[in-house]
Amino acid sequence: MKYLILLFALFSITQTWARSDSLADGMRPKKYKKRDKPILNVALVYYGSFWDERDMQRIAPLLKERYEAATKGVIKLNIAHTAALPYKHQIDSYPEYTQDGITDKSRLQRLWYYDNIGGKIINEVYEEFEKSEVGKHYGELDALLVVSGAQYDALGFASGRVAITEQPREIAWGLPDTGRTEIVTDENLVDELVHELGHTMFLGHTSTQCMRPELSLQERRECCEHSPNGQDVMSYCRDRRKVDANFFYGFEKCNMTMIQELIVPAMLKGKNWNVSGRLNCL
Ligand SMILES: [Zn+2]
Repeated sequence: MKYLILLFALFSITQTWARSDSLADGMRPKKYKKRDKPILNVALVYYGSFWDERDMQRIAPLLKERYEAATKGVIKLNIAHTAALPYKHQIDSYPEYTQDGITDKSRLQRLWYYDNIGGKIINEVYEEFEKSEVGKHYGELDALLVVSGAQYDALGFASGRVAITEQPREIAWGLPDTGRTEIVTDENLVDELVHELGHTMFLGHTSTQCMRPELSLQERRECCEHSPNGQDVMSYCRDRRKVDANFFYGFEKCNMTMIQELIVPAMLKGKNWNVSGRLNCL
């Protein structure tokens, strides 16, 4: 009997997970929360000490403006909360950690994360946000957007409904000149966040045919030129150096079709986040 009760309890828990529409239950809730209007609710959080909450408040209007323009106004973005969270692991607790030639403590702090936490940073921030004052709002959010001082091996990535990008970026620190710290412009940071927001809506990369490793640089360039979705914000063909105060990338026809015909209906009806019938945007 005891065994049966346990089995039943386990079954109910897994069923709750399977049906969950709440970010409070984990990083990849299966469903959208039902809503009256196509508004995506997010929190924008800085992780670390290079920036603070005021920087998040500064970039929030640009992110909102460009995301909404990127979706041609089909989805509105509500940046419901901004915050800055301190690192869980403080460099002072790891006096044995060194990097050749680097004495700047804040750089060492960012690099410690690269060497010790890496991609798991996204789980760490998810958990730290939960413990914070704004963490009680998890249940209202569709996605958590993180700008991170902690470094990892990519420009940005998403895991479920949590997405991350770096600010600043540490470059080539292993070289004899110890590399450099690059500060990303607000416009480029927003470009990356719009891309990651695409992933949190279950959109993949477009024009992946141009990123096959066997292609030469020249072949890649030609492929991108002929790719119908090469200028989509979800494409690696896009030239991020072109992004500035006047220019940015949005969702092209193929992704817009998915946004209008699959994602918005899923949001309004509280249906699966992993929308079926997705297109392969070449
Ligand atoms: Zn991506």
